[in-house]
Amino acid sequence: MSDRGLLIVLSGPSGVGKGTVRKHLFEHYNNDFVFSISMTTRQLRRGEQEGVDYFYRSREEFERYIQEEKLLEYAEYVNNYYGTPIDYVEKTLADGCDVFLEIEVQGAMKVKEKMPEAIFIFLAPPDLKELKSRIESRGTDDAKTIERRLQKATEELKLIRYYDYVVKNDDVDQAAQKIRSIIESEHLKVESNLHYYTKMIEELS
Ligand code: 5GP
Repeated sequence: MSDRGLLIVLSGPSGVGKGTVRKHLFEHYNNDFVFSISMTTRQLRRGEQEGVDYFYRSREEFERYIQEEKLLEYAEYVNNYYGTPIDYVEKTLADGCDVFLEIEVQGAMKVKEKMPEAIFIFLAPPDLKELKSRIESRGTDDAKTIERRLQKATEELKLIRYYDYVVKNDDVDQAAQKIRSIIESEHLKVESNLHYYTKMIEELS
């Protein structure tokens, strides 16, 4: 394992089930990676907890974080801000531990610019029919809103080319297992282990 942890980014189109897969992954498995709790301006939902699901902050406070460059990335999504506090990510990676982000696609693209060495996993809908039905079943929206959401999902799907891996979300547990396998494989890459063996070679010769 390299000294620095890996940054793992799980993202994908709206309504694909990123939150569900991420929760399953952390509730059902003992992972060697930790979840980066995001900051948001949206209201706390029933069953959620401050400092567990999100850090819930006012717009003013969030904007101060932006100005002070304390966020690795942030995005505005359905009239609320969402962002990744940079300190926790930096410190945890420096300690040699992997960090897991679950963020929407605009934010993922910003991480790609700033930290291209991160591992980008695209959570994809199983098929078009499923994607449509998930978008349509969200709330009591009119046809126009649904149409807009579908267009947005199409734009989001196009970003798949910038990712390293794709995981189809046709079964939550299988998707979680695949994500674990990806992370495990990343740790087996020669480049992640090279410094260890370089040292071994040096000691031998
Ligand atoms: P929700 O309000 O349903 O918890 O999340 C809405 C969207 O925000 C989801 O797509 C989720 O992945 C995304 N999200 C959560 N945290 C962050 C973050 O820190 N940055 C970005 N860019 N998106 C986030």
